Amino acid sequence: MLEHRTSSERIAVQDPRQITAYHAHIYYDPATSRREAALLRERIGELFPDARLGRWHDQPVGPHPQAMYQIVFRPDQFGPIVPWLLLNRCGLTILVHPETGDDYRDHAEHALWLGAILSLRLDVLTGRI
Ligand code: ZN
Repeated sequence: MLEHRTSSERIAVQDPRQITAYHAHIYYDPATSRREAALLRERIGELFPDARLGRWHDQPVGPHPQAMYQIVFRPDQFGPIVPWLLLNRCGLTILVHPETGDDYRDHAEHALWLGAILSLRLDVLTGRI
């Protein structure tokens, strides 16, 4: 009978309890999809009043390659909010990432993309650990 894998072959795991919040970045094109982004924003504000809506960025900012605004929400709001975004993203691309204190890994390795996967400007984050 074969032995089970030894403990030395275990992968390193991170405890999800270290996640203090989530961001959802809602990407849009100021020329073609700002209206959809505004409708989505309005509905999120109504349905999830505890989520914090960030301001509009019509120009790329930080690691984000397109116009966007962000939504910040608590870990216990992931369940209600993310499935709602899955079903109601109006064709927009959305990045959901956790906040663990490591900006680079949160964007590069811990990212959850709804729709297309955009190339983030990760070099912006490399100086931060
Ligand atoms: Zn973010």
